[in-house]
Amino acid sequence: MSPEPRQSSNSFDAVLMAGWADGLSARNLAELAASHGGDAGRPFLECDDGRVFTFAEFWALAGRLASGLKLAGARPADRIAVQVEKSPEAIALFWACVRGGFVFLPLNTAYTAAEVSYFVEDAEPAVLVVSPQRAPGLQALADRHKAALLTLDDAGGGTLVDGATGMIADHGSSWDDLAAILYTSGTTGRSKGAMLSNGNLASNALALVEAWAFTKADVLIHALPVYHTHGLFVATNTLLLSGGRILFRRAFDADAVMRLMSQATCLMGVPTFYTRLLQHDGLSCEATRHMRLFISGSAPLLAETHREFAARTGHAILERYGMTETSMNTSNPYAGERRAGTVGLPLPHIHVRVADPQTHAPLAAETDGMIEVKGPNVFKGYWRNPQKTAEDFTSDGWFITGDMGRVSGDGYVTISGRAKDLVITGGFNVYPKEIELAIDALPGVLESAVFGVPHPDFGEAVTAAVVARPGAALDETAMIAELRRQLAAFKCPKRILVIDELPRNTMGKVQKAALRDRWKGLFG
Ligand code: AMP
Repeated sequence: MSPEPRQSSNSFDAVLMAGWADGLSARNLAELAASHGGDAGRPFLECDDGRVFTFAEFWALAGRLASGLKLAGARPADRIAVQVEKSPEAIALFWACVRGGFVFLPLNTAYTAAEVSYFVEDAEPAVLVVSPQRAPGLQALADRHKAALLTLDDAGGGTLVDGATGMIADHGSSWDDLAAILYTSGTTGRSKGAMLSNGNLASNALALVEAWAFTKADVLIHALPVYHTHGLFVATNTLLLSGGRILFRRAFDADAVMRLMSQATCLMGVPTFYTRLLQHDGLSCEATRHMRLFISGSAPLLAETHREFAARTGHAILERYGMTETSMNTSNPYAGERRAGTVGLPLPHIHVRVADPQTHAPLAAETDGMIEVKGPNVFKGYWRNPQKTAEDFTSDGWFITGDMGRVSGDGYVTISGRAKDLVITGGFNVYPKEIELAIDALPGVLESAVFGVPHPDFGEAVTAAVVARPGAALDETAMIAELRRQLAAFKCPKRILVIDELPRNTMGKVQKAALRDRWKGLFG
């Protein structure tokens, strides 16, 4: 089934679309804000450290950072790899790349220096911007790859800013130019860089402004990390385009979010935000009275969480579905039924279908298959990986998401599982293969299988089953401690279970479904 995308009759849309394109090529963001009724002198970002940036100041900040990158030697189309703590500057750095024509490459702050070296080798950035405490550990890597190493701290200081003059002639990027490369892991254990153009990001921001009815009256609580598409693009570009305001928090804290709700209109979060808010005694209809919208995504929201939240607050959480490669694809309706356990309908201008995973023939409603997507949001392919790009598109141009699901008779999409067995823990993706390789290299381990099991706080917990070499004794605590030294904390198994043999099918494939089923009660 291939539902037709909803047609936009909204001329406001066209104005914004033209505004973004012009903003990239000729005008600046301040003019863009003004062009849709905003005022560049109005606050855009209000930070928890007391700093406030108006639209005009934010744009000027992006210009300063762009000039710092240019001084360090960056030229248009160069990659700028960034591993910094969450700050307004971290987001402005993306806009600095837009202004300078550079390609923004954000990295998860949990990545170790060893993990960062893979991205630097693959993407060959001209500049590496890192928080000051990371710089000593990355200097040799930067030198080896002839990349300039600059620092940026979370108060806006560092060598990037020290060298900046603010003198930048906007590069004039086009709709199809690359704006960012966001790395996403692969089942082979190697991350792939998803190439996103200005047009991919702008079209998605426009679709979301329309679908979620954002206006300049909106005030968003932003408590997401900014190295991932959700916090970096979804939660930021929608407010930037609608002229709204962001209450910018370093991290999620239930008490702080509860307090901010009396001044805010919207929260965007991963399901963990909502399970934590439900544990807060203050959550009530009264406490959420000022809010117009709660949005959830990046991982499945339990229907139970949806129902409990509605019972406590009177708000039906709006669940949407997207991914690094495509930004957002579907959303429950703003006006209309928000159906618990589903990810809603295709967004404006985006086609979503469920197809046979082998033949890619569209399937009838209510039939499980592969979710495939087409539209201006779909990325340009994987960085320097044409083979993987070719594998992930059908011959007629649909992107094969890797998510299995079905569409109801009235168009609502339900995700039934991930074809590639990835584990989503606290909103982050963990690809089992990478963890299995690390476990298999530990002394005394014969083989391993990594899988996700339900966890009340993280959604899923990374869990491993291992088989010992004959005669070897394995110590769970010691294995976890060693993995913590090698891997980002969110990727480390919460439990490692030592078993006699892995369950396999007749073809020799490990049956992860059986493992998940056997250990599904592990975390209560
Ligand atoms: P990422 O590329 O990190 O954004 O992860 C994308 C993946 O997260 C998708 O391919 C889905 O498997 C999953 N995902 C995102 N949103 C949802 C959702 N609302 N429900 C279920 N899975 C989701």
